[in-house]
Amino acid sequence: MNDEEARFADAFRRLSASGFRSRFRLSQKDRLTAELKGEAVIEAHARAIVADRLAPGEIPNDGRQTPFRGHPVFTAQHATACCCRQCFSKWWHVPAGRPLSKKEAEWAVGLITRWISRELRRPEDPVRPRRPKRGESGSLF
Ligand SMILES: [Zn+2]
Repeated sequence: MNDEEARFADAFRRLSASGFRSRFRLSQKDRLTAELKGEAVIEAHARAIVADRLAPGEIPNDGRQTPFRGHPVFTAQHATACCCRQCFSKWWHVPAGRPLSKKEAEWAVGLITRWISRELRRPEDPVRPRRPKRGESGSLF
């Protein structure tokens, strides 16, 4: 493992120890979007979203700019503390109030895309069978 991958591995170990960050999962819709678009397109989206919503030095609605659903990158941003400059600063020690350098923006893109790939490799959560309501037949036959 090279230095950069070791840094990412360490970051994911830290994130997995956070109850808040580790509870995020790709929804079935996010998963489908990510699979249909493929890694290269998702990475391009991640780069564009980071440039627009995380990289600027001044973000008027910082802390509220990342929706909780609607795109796999949004979910990944919450899971990797790349959702706003406050979280990014707290987790990755990059001060808010100035534009991100290219390297810092790429750190966010790297975390986001790696998180999505990891999620796609994770087996889908099993759909729990619904207990039949009273009066409903428990069997299809
Ligand atoms: Zn945040």
